[in-house]
Amino acid sequence: MIQMKQVYKKYSNGIMAANGFDVNIQQGEFVYVVGPSGAGKTTFIKMMYREEKPTKGTILINNVDIATLKAKRVPYLRRNIGVVFQDFKLLNQLTIYENIAFALEVIEEHPKTIKKRAMEVLDLVGLKHKARMMPDELSGGEQQRISIARSIANQPKIMIADEPTGNLDPETSWEIMNLFEEINARGTTVIMATHNREIVNTIRHRVIAIENGLIVRDEQRGEYGYEG
Ligand code: ADP
Ligand code: ADP
Repeated sequence: MIQMKQVYKKYSNGIMAANGFDVNIQQGEFVYVVGPSGAGKTTFIKMMYREEKPTKGTILINNVDIATLKAKRVPYLRRNIGVVFQDFKLLNQLTIYENIAFALEVIEEHPKTIKKRAMEVLDLVGLKHKARMMPDELSGGEQQRISIARSIANQPKIMIADEPTGNLDPETSWEIMNLFEEINARGTTVIMATHNREIVNTIRHRVIAIENGLIVRDEQRGEYGYEG
């Protein structure tokens, strides 16, 4: 469902962050993306939802080349992809419920569907009772749950996460991982960049290691493979 062929990315400052990525990811896979800081993990991920455009190469998502996708088609691509960040990126002036409803409003869902879907995903992440609260009234782990709820509200086939547990304590990180496991078990493809050695070595999945803009390792049920 996701296929990168000879993908290169050179930033305007001359840095080559991708030096020929070749990768195939099937529907339903769970893939960890590991590697040192500055290796190109974020670039790899950003190109999958067209936050960055490759300089060269093909990125097929369900047989559509998103490397050359017209700008006006990008919103349609994003509907199929949920994205979760290390720093949650919630809208702090809106309530928890409004944060999720807003994500559905922008894709012009029917008001009835919005209400139903928003409450469903809040229930799924165990925070229905906090729907009326503001993001800053929630703990980091709860805020990440909300950002996950928002990212799955429109039932995307692909979920992309860039260091989703990077700002969380170990116990909370495991809880967040359990949510990703549940989402993956429902058939959603999960692609997650992470520095969390413990998690990668315990909840085993495919591991893609990136160094200097190159995939240096790609293993089913792989290990984290770096110290610390
Ligand atoms: P990570 O947490 O993945 O290591 P970084 O801290 O390297 O991320 O970078 C965070 C973001 O800042 C990147 O995703 C990128 O968009 C931007 N960034 C990183 N390095 C540069 C740079 N040299 N010039 C401009 N923007 C950069
Ligand atoms: P990682 O996520 O593995 O830390 P990144 O993909 O963020 O790596 O960065 C890979 C390389 O590209 C780094 O050298 C980084 O400084 C550079 N980089 C990332 N984003 C930008 C950007 N927007 N402009 C210029 N350089 C960038």
